[in-house]
Amino acid sequence: MALIVHKYGGTSMGSTDRIKNVAKRVAKWHDAGYQIVVVPSAMSGETNRIIGLAKEIMADPDPRELDMIASTGEQVSVGLLAIALQALGKKAVSYAGWQVPIKTDSSYTKARIASIDDAKVNADLAEGKIVIITGFQGVDELGNITTLGRGGSDTSAVAIAAALKAQECLIYTDVDGVYTTDPRVVSEARKLNTVTFEEMLEMASLGSKVLQIRSVEFAGNYRMPTRVLSSLTDPLMPLAEEIISGTLISFEEDTNMEQATITGIAFNRDEAKLTVFGVPDKPGIAYQILGPIADANIEVDMIIQNQSVDGKTDFTFTVPRGDYNKAMDVLNASVKEHIGAGNIIGDAKVSKVSVVGVGMRSHVGIASQMFRTLSDEGINIQMISTSEIKISVLIDEKYMELAVRALHKAFELEAA
Ligand code: ADP
Ligand code: ASP
Ligand code: MG
Repeated sequence: MALIVHKYGGTSMGSTDRIKNVAKRVAKWHDAGYQIVVVPSAMSGETNRIIGLAKEIMADPDPRELDMIASTGEQVSVGLLAIALQALGKKAVSYAGWQVPIKTDSSYTKARIASIDDAKVNADLAEGKIVIITGFQGVDELGNITTLGRGGSDTSAVAIAAALKAQECLIYTDVDGVYTTDPRVVSEARKLNTVTFEEMLEMASLGSKVLQIRSVEFAGNYRMPTRVLSSLTDPLMPLAEEIISGTLISFEEDTNMEQATITGIAFNRDEAKLTVFGVPDKPGIAYQILGPIADANIEVDMIIQNQSVDGKTDFTFTVPRGDYNKAMDVLNASVKEHIGAGNIIGDAKVSKVSVVGVGMRSHVGIASQMFRTLSDEGINIQMISTSEIKISVLIDEKYMELAVRALHKAFELEAA
């Protein structure tokens, strides 16, 4: 019997009525003969609320305790969904991550899944039960509860689908698929029927929060067919229609080659930029600047080192905005100690906007079209980075939405 994994996000689980609808949809799939594992998120707003309680007590709480707190939202969801399914006459059982267990490393608040035990789940499925497993959480070797980073239920779902060798992983959310850009920012955004795995990986890593990036990595590593679709449609809609709705992440290299040069536009508001002026231009400098940043567990994204003048250069890099103050402290200390360079300045009000598409490989002129569009809007580009299938620019955050809209139009991504 084919196994399908369903994942429902916070909005989809946002009230007991919504949960009853999820139960109806899941029961419909089960009635159609599928084995079903469901991975829900916490009810919308709940994870923020409980993390907020911890931060009311202390600005920078112990990450182990934060995970203890943050993981509880999902535990409420699985229990409620099991009850809703039982109310429909279904056999259903809920598990927390540690009960499966879903084993992770011990990087609290951003743990990585190491293994998933399928024994208990398979036994339940064989007995005709619908199995409901908490998203977002796992357990480390010592039995501590961990979480997978914000938005991590997507990753739980795809990893569980891969471990159980499911036929497909369906990510139900509050939009009916992956769009050319966030439909909340550009109302003309168009839904994509398919998006290549590589494009989805870039879009997720560049800020499209519709899927957590690690879920896309799991989908790619295990070639797990993954579909993004709406939970807000009629839960009893015909299965044949539902099965082909939404956006399928495809592993076909050339799916979009013929259609468009650009598939989508991603953006990330949460960027910050740091610059060290007057750095001596000699071997080892990048390491001396960025080594301590990496040691502080801060991810560096874009990097620019200018051409040197009189043996001195400027060095600029970006970090997630949440790490800005920490990065500035580390940089002040390490520059003083090793480099003796001049000024350090920073800007925490920058955003990154990226155009993504596998079609870029076979088309020239995308970068110049992007830069011309931004120039026509009077938007200054502070940094640029490129890969084979994306071009990203860093700009003042106040122009971010304008840039996304202008690029969406310039690359003719609107719905017909
Ligand atoms: P869930 O709670 O179901 O996990 P999320 O809020 O994490 O839902 O993700 C869905 C949201 O992602 C949408 O409501 C939409 O605003 C946003 N989003 C950002 N970029 C895109 C995109 N390219 N396509 C669709 N949705 C996007
Ligand atoms: N509840 C968690 C969060 O809000 C995980 C998720 O929703 O995917 O980040
Ligand atoms: Mg999400």
